[in-house]
Amino acid sequence: MNFVVFDLEWNSAAPGKSGSSESLAELPFEIIEIGAVKLSTEVEPLETFSANVKAQVYKQLNKYIARVTQRSQESLSQGDPFPLVAAEFAEFCGADAILASWGQSDPQVLKQNLEFHQLDPSFFRKALNLQVFFAHMAEAGQTSQQRSIEYALESLNIEADLSFHDALNDARYAARILNALLLKTETEEERKEALRPFLYDPFLNRDSRWQLTEAAEGNAEATIRGQEYKCPACQRVLTSDEPIIITKKNKRWSWILHCETHGQVRCSINRRRSEGKDIYYFKLTLPYPPN
Ligand SMILES: [Zn+2]
Repeated sequence: MNFVVFDLEWNSAAPGKSGSSESLAELPFEIIEIGAVKLSTEVEPLETFSANVKAQVYKQLNKYIARVTQRSQESLSQGDPFPLVAAEFAEFCGADAILASWGQSDPQVLKQNLEFHQLDPSFFRKALNLQVFFAHMAEAGQTSQQRSIEYALESLNIEADLSFHDALNDARYAARILNALLLKTETEEERKEALRPFLYDPFLNRDSRWQLTEAAEGNAEATIRGQEYKCPACQRVLTSDEPIIITKKNKRWSWILHCETHGQVRCSINRRRSEGKDIYYFKLTLPYPPN
């Protein structure tokens, strides 16, 4: 089992003159630093990776990001361009690595940056969300609470001796958390078993949305049942034997559908009245961890 725990720092568009940000839809966040720790099969640190990325898209450091990361404007011109750093990082990760990180943002931003630069993403096929893994292992599956790394360290009695919001240090902390969560497992087989339900392909499309406008006062259940639902990941038509659940009367519904390949798919439906019409907002999501 090849484990890499990584953490990214990124920059985004600085607010433009009009106050609105001039952000690219395909690259809302540009990676400016990658920190990572490679772990042994016993989940002990083996090797570290740390690289600054020279900004190519957003060359002005966003004020908010400057405050959180304590970075300077000059730091954006240090390091190598992303394609070079990404190639080094891919080599560091090696084949078939599980890339673990805290939360779901880092995998998404890494994916977007790889796609934006049209780079080979084949080193990044297995992701693990440590925040969710922590919630399941240490807090009996209370996934609604998005805990911070600081919180997890404290709850697992791990010493916080490094400064936060430095990519390599945050990766080191996340690696210590993973190590602590897997302490009770004895063999590599047991560790694989504990992690398996939480691994996912970051390139799989996990949600889709659309909307529909209808004459007001229509039959919501009939409208909902009348839609064709396709799996966000594979486009297969979804089926359901489940009842449609009303979560807020005349306004919100939820429905569980099923994909032959991807299992359960959740649908949430919102209805809003506008200019005498009803607008339905549909959202399909593959649950995480997958089930
Ligand atoms: Zn599917």
